[in-house]
Amino acid sequence: MNFCKTKAITLKRRDYSNTSQIATFYTLDYGKVQTLAKGSKRIGKKVLGSIDLLCYSELIFIKREGSGLHVLTEWELLEDFPAFRKNLEKFYAGCYVVELVGELTEEEEKNEPLFLCILDALCGLSGTKNPTVNLLALELQMLKHLGYLPSLEECVCCDGRLLQGSDAFYSPVHRGLLCKSCSGEDGYKRLSPGALQAAKFLVSSKAAGLGRLRLSPYLCGELRGLSADYLSFALNKPMDMWKYLR
Ligand SMILES: [Zn+2]
Repeated sequence: MNFCKTKAITLKRRDYSNTSQIATFYTLDYGKVQTLAKGSKRIGKKVLGSIDLLCYSELIFIKREGSGLHVLTEWELLEDFPAFRKNLEKFYAGCYVVELVGELTEEEEKNEPLFLCILDALCGLSGTKNPTVNLLALELQMLKHLGYLPSLEECVCCDGRLLQGSDAFYSPVHRGLLCKSCSGEDGYKRLSPGALQAAKFLVSSKAAGLGRLRLSPYLCGELRGLSADYLSFALNKPMDMWKYLR
């Protein structure tokens, strides 16, 4: 049997029978996996306790080739991030992380930098007083790790460096940022120099460093627009949680 041991973040859980559940995890070594957790609802079971959403854990599952539903045999809680269950704003932020990871990732596609970025975001979100900045950073970093975010340094058209202090322009369809002279007349959204600088900071910062970033409501709006446009383009639809967060 093919036993797989890995670190994981719980994304989804649903009942399968009176005693079992299907749990979806985003894992460090196997990407997103679905597992059957037999007996996970039984009280007092030693190995499989109740598997909660957004918990960070170490698990062992038996890989069933070709089935897409593997068998969870061990699950050990490493961090349960209680803040997501105590505060409504954090709860919504947590639900949004689940939606982002669920929608943007494919089954069984390993992406170690993405896993580490999500875990870092969960640590940051659970401790921060301002989830907006942490969520913006997570959105932009996920887009980067999955190849949807354009270079924030060069114009996609002329390869020239985007100059500090100058506006940049973008369109998700164009897959990149453009300098002023390449952007032409219309069809592109403007990104102010401040928003471009902030986007560069957000995309390259660990959650622990985000607390020192102060964003005006205007810059925040520009950055939300940028990430929302690229997310909508990547998924071909808006995210469900936006109506609670924006
Ligand atoms: Zn250009």
